[in-house]
Amino acid sequence: MSSVNTAIQLSVRGASKESTCGTDLAKGPWEFDLSAALEGVPSYGPGASLADQAPSSTPQQIQIPQQYKDASEQELDERILAAKATLGDRVVILGHFYQRDEVIKYADFVGDSFQLANAAKSKPEAEAIVFCGVHFMAETADMLSGPEQAVILPNLAAGCSMADMADIESVEACWAQLEEIYGDMTATDAEGKVPVIPVTYMNSSAALKGFCGEHGGIVCTSSNAKTVLEWAFQRGQRVLFFPDQHLGRNTAKAMGVPLEQMPMWSPRKPWGGTSLETLQDARVILWHGFCSVHRRFSVAQIDQARAEYPGVRVIVHPECPMPVVDAADESGSTDYIVKAIQAAPAGTTFAIGTEINLVNRLAEEYPQHTIFCLDPVICPCSTMYRIHPGYLAWVLESLVQKTVVNQIRVPENVAVPARVALERMLAAKP
Ligand code: SF4
Repeated sequence: MSSVNTAIQLSVRGASKESTCGTDLAKGPWEFDLSAALEGVPSYGPGASLADQAPSSTPQQIQIPQQYKDASEQELDERILAAKATLGDRVVILGHFYQRDEVIKYADFVGDSFQLANAAKSKPEAEAIVFCGVHFMAETADMLSGPEQAVILPNLAAGCSMADMADIESVEACWAQLEEIYGDMTATDAEGKVPVIPVTYMNSSAALKGFCGEHGGIVCTSSNAKTVLEWAFQRGQRVLFFPDQHLGRNTAKAMGVPLEQMPMWSPRKPWGGTSLETLQDARVILWHGFCSVHRRFSVAQIDQARAEYPGVRVIVHPECPMPVVDAADESGSTDYIVKAIQAAPAGTTFAIGTEINLVNRLAEEYPQHTIFCLDPVICPCSTMYRIHPGYLAWVLESLVQKTVVNQIRVPENVAVPARVALERMLAAKP
């Protein structure tokens, strides 16, 4: 099977019957960095989050030297390998599951965002950690790695549209309104519970993790969301969950929280666009955020997969909308999906609802199974796709020249409370 990038190039040239969600995907990511710089409007670039509005504060990538844009695939390959060999243990390269094949092949570790943050921690001798993922992941790696280690994001415009849907100002404004309803947020009831525990998904800025650390809250991943919600309900009457409404809803619903007690909070609307009565009765207040990759999956795609492949095992990520999770056989994190495929008897057919780079790689790695993406259109995560081998070559060769470019630094006044929220997550027991 060809890589997602190769499939896109063939599709755009009309050399294959596969379709993509945007012909611009065939261009180099620097073209979007350039238009963002010229127009002053940051964008996530082509792909699943193309239609999402990027906040004006989104970091913008400077133009990389022309030589990296002009270099052939083979030349970039040789330069990356040579730089990596020269740097040796001075550098560790981390690749997220959703990263394109042309980049993942250089990674020392491949995994989800939390696995990679821990991998960063396990290499204290490395001076530089090159994170081939998105911005919030590099922030987490910076907070968990040593103070002398530089965390580098090869393209600063590789953000996460979901993480950007909850900014610190909007969350603080929400908290202030909730305080008006519930009163003193530190006062406990007869059961020793405070009015609200804030819970942020790992896919959020360091500032939001810091907010949770300061307000008795916690971080969760898609693997431990249930454990974390149980932790929160032991300490609070209700939860404010951001930024992903779907992970919050799917997890709380599976724990028996009624949907009518899960109002949605839309930032910039009075009372979040809901009512005082609803908020009084709420158990989980869901932030109006979503992942544009996982929002593409539908019940119709599942029906089609079942019609074409009787007996197919449908596994979707819990960032998918609730009807999709309900219609699937199973839902779980990327780690869950990988392990389910590893453990299945040979000859199993899987329809997977998560990012296409991971699904195609799994299909390649497990030829004993039939594995395909539920979405028939090739539509990768826009921002992950911005990490092109040209940027990787640029940051590595800069390191060889003893220059650190694109360093991600979380200020200590944010990192200290954010680590508190992360440590609470690590200590939370199922
Ligand atoms: S797949 Fe979704 S949640 Fe993950 S980085 Fe891309 S936009 Fe963000």
